[in-house]
Amino acid sequence: MNWREHYRKAVTFSYDDGVTQDIRFVDMLNRYQLKGTFNLNSGIGYVDQVWTCKGVEIHRCRRETVRDLYSGHEVAVHTLHHPNLYEMTDGEQIAREILEDQENLERVFGTPVVGMAYPFGGYREETIALLRANHFQYARTTKSNYFFEEQEELLTYAPTCHHNDSRLMELADRLVTGEPEQSQIFCVWGHSYEFDVDDTWEKMEEFCRFISDRDDIFYGTNREVLGR
Ligand SMILES: [Zn+2]
Repeated sequence: MNWREHYRKAVTFSYDDGVTQDIRFVDMLNRYQLKGTFNLNSGIGYVDQVWTCKGVEIHRCRRETVRDLYSGHEVAVHTLHHPNLYEMTDGEQIAREILEDQENLERVFGTPVVGMAYPFGGYREETIALLRANHFQYARTTKSNYFFEEQEELLTYAPTCHHNDSRLMELADRLVTGEPEQSQIFCVWGHSYEFDVDDTWEKMEEFCRFISDRDDIFYGTNREVLGR
């Protein structure tokens, strides 16, 4: 089903790195019947790349837990090891980072994986060509554009805003009260560990409560919302 046949507004979430705070965040999305896409680095396990931010220890989810955790949501490529693809020159290595992550996720989740989020938002023209040749449908950058309008080039997709953005609730209000002629998409992005680090779980919950349960908004994964 293409949501545009029945709705003019859609909301979707795009969250990176597959960290353990996703457990609480997925539970929050589920409680409000919201849908998201989780961009995972299948080459990094629970103990492989642990870091501490403002006293919060950050781990990737244990591999054996992810299939159940993200059930009902979408998973997408975030590369095997989270390099900045803009800084990489070896085409074979870039292809491996992307395509092996895709293969791993398809094997673990048993579904086609057609989307991506660029680690650090970094990419080059060659990366886009690689994604196109491998039938990726979209790839999300980290540059918020504060727009709801549909975008022509989905392989350099700009999300609407990060959840920490001071304009988050203002944008939510604009979407909810608007009466658009054309379809509109609100794509919120971030990392769920930031809710711990910045102590913003409640703020996010307030946003979820406000944006959810509205008859004229379609709530879907990135693939469902961005796909045409
Ligand atoms: Zn990332």
